[in-house]
Amino acid sequence: MAIKAVVLFSEGLDSSLAVKLMQEQGIDVIAVNFVTPFGVGNKDKKKNGTIIERAKELNVELKLYKVGDDYLQIVENPRYGYGKNLNPCIACRIWMFKKAKELMHETGAKFIVSGEVLGQRPMSQKRYTMEIIEKESGLEGFIVRPLTAKLLTSSIPEQKGWVKREKFFDILGRSRIRQFDLAKKFKITNYDNPAGGCLLTDSSFCLKIKDLINSDMFNIDNINLIKNGRYFNISNCFKLVVGRNEGENAGLLNLAGKGNLILEPVVKGPVAIGRGEINDKYIQIALEIVAYYCKGQENNFKIKFSIFPDTAKNAIVKGKMTEEVLSGYRIKSTKKVNTTLKERSGFL
Ligand code: SF4
Repeated sequence: MAIKAVVLFSEGLDSSLAVKLMQEQGIDVIAVNFVTPFGVGNKDKKKNGTIIERAKELNVELKLYKVGDDYLQIVENPRYGYGKNLNPCIACRIWMFKKAKELMHETGAKFIVSGEVLGQRPMSQKRYTMEIIEKESGLEGFIVRPLTAKLLTSSIPEQKGWVKREKFFDILGRSRIRQFDLAKKFKITNYDNPAGGCLLTDSSFCLKIKDLINSDMFNIDNINLIKNGRYFNISNCFKLVVGRNEGENAGLLNLAGKGNLILEPVVKGPVAIGRGEINDKYIQIALEIVAYYCKGQENNFKIKFSIFPDTAKNAIVKGKMTEEVLSGYRIKSTKKVNTTLKERSGFL
């Protein structure tokens, strides 16, 4: 019977190559993809559809693992700190490898495979950080990285002859040329740009994340909400998201839940959802912000609003909020917030 391995699988090329390089050696591959709320494409079903198609093209069994609140804790308090933004890459990889290890035990697989390349990513793919990740996940010697294996200490699967080290590679650094050559060899055409990926590396998105963390409103529902529009910090306990187009308006309405403030202009304008502690003052501010984005009129904006699932009422907003007042509710980058979060992580 073929030896099984669990491959950490993503939309990128490298993990597809890792699958192919294992299959080439007769290894029975199980792919696991971690669906986090920070995936750029997973706010709709397209991403999961796409990754399922990719797994089918590679003829590999795919397991989708939706992350929960324990994952958010590592974003909030990463043991090994953040990268350039709020990306806790070392702790994130440890978390993922630990989950993959559980799957390895459940499925009778013998080892874990990763498409990582030494020196490709500044935080999690340095030699010493790879060692930390391997040790902390309890997988010392049991992670095979076929694209870069010849630059690393021989893994147990290589030592035991389950896989042949000579068939692996010594790819180093950020250049993708050798991966593209391998993609041609294996006829892999369906993969995402390596720069894509994780919203925790996006500085403007991280401003919103920082604000949610600092307001004790950091949860998966709120992360999904803030991916759908302009974000306003009305107060430490009330946030408003305003759709920028029809897609976002529909997305916001889909995400509205019990106790949320829902605003919809009667004629034409954006949908907005408010979450947190709602009072008359915040409702008035939210109405004025929605009026600001209503096009085609200057005054007397008729806007429906309700606290879900109550019946909607109509409000008339007389005039537009000024840009100056509006900008006071936008979030801004402050060194202090950064420092506070980095201090919390204990890894400066
Ligand atoms: S970029 Fe995002 S998903 Fe990737 S390791 Fe870092 S935190 Fe995790």
